[in-house]
Amino acid sequence: MPRRFGIFARTLGRFVPSALVRPFGRPVVLFFHGVEQHTDDPRVQTNHHEVDDFVQILKAIKASFDVLPLAAVSDALAHPERHRRSVFLTSDDGYANTLTIAADLLEDMGLPWTLFISTHHVDTGERNPMFLIRLFFHYAPEGQYDIPFLGPVVLGDEDVRERQVARAVERLRLMNFKDASRALAAMLAAFPDDTLRRLLKRFSSEAFLSWGQITDLKRRGVEIGAHAHHHWAMHAGQDPLFYRDEARRSRERIEKEVGACRYFAYPHGNVDDVSRRAWEAVRDAGYDYAFTTLSGTLDASLNPFLLPRFCLGPHQRGLTSVVPLLRAANPRLAEWQKRMAG
Ligand SMILES: [Zn+2]
Repeated sequence: MPRRFGIFARTLGRFVPSALVRPFGRPVVLFFHGVEQHTDDPRVQTNHHEVDDFVQILKAIKASFDVLPLAAVSDALAHPERHRRSVFLTSDDGYANTLTIAADLLEDMGLPWTLFISTHHVDTGERNPMFLIRLFFHYAPEGQYDIPFLGPVVLGDEDVRERQVARAVERLRLMNFKDASRALAAMLAAFPDDTLRRLLKRFSSEAFLSWGQITDLKRRGVEIGAHAHHHWAMHAGQDPLFYRDEARRSRERIEKEVGACRYFAYPHGNVDDVSRRAWEAVRDAGYDYAFTTLSGTLDASLNPFLLPRFCLGPHQRGLTSVVPLLRAANPRLAEWQKRMAG
């Protein structure tokens, strides 16, 4: 539902005059992932804005809103009526191109931002599991593969692979972490070593930042937050210890490598990806605030560990209308938060 609201706001926002909805405005958190010069296979490179589109989006944001550092979020929550034009900019996952491309653009325009990183992936360089699943379905050689929990997978024509990948991504996202990791390992084993190496090099857009690069960003004023330790959904189907580990380890790693870590963003972050145990574990790990990917605007009635965020579309237009319209999603957000409180 909330995801559908995002699509609705995106579409409606293109037709509604901004002057009409501006008084309706409330503080909003926006997010993007990576920014690339050019993506050559959108079937697997799903998380990046192309640089020209990103610049247009930043110009639109700068022209119509006040972009604030995340440290001002408590004031925005307490006094939303004083923050009708306030937005907070965030980026998820920690792609290396946020340093090589996005950081310079944001800095040149004087826009503060926060980066949420998944610390296991920074420690190991292991790519985002959703990218690796897509890589298997689109690039593994033709044949039959026995994938734990998915059964025999026959890879052949591209149009069939397209349907298979959509189902598999959905299936693995909702699976227990350990089971999903076994399935993913079997997928990667389908590639001859040099083929996988070649593909990872070709899709360097998916490479993550190193700790040294994250420290550079921090020095340049970027706030660093946690996006869990592993990039997996913290849904209700995980083992009880999973939530605590994901919330604590990511904070500990960031505090050791770069300093204070006050904010958390849930991987995937939609209604099916965040459980009651997840937000309680995030609260208990000592974070100040945590962000979902449900649409809505900020105010003091919200659970501080289940705050809304809006994903910037690849060619996002009409933000001056879209942002104020997000307030219409708050009743649904409040209803969900009530269910999550038990
Ligand atoms: Zn993510």
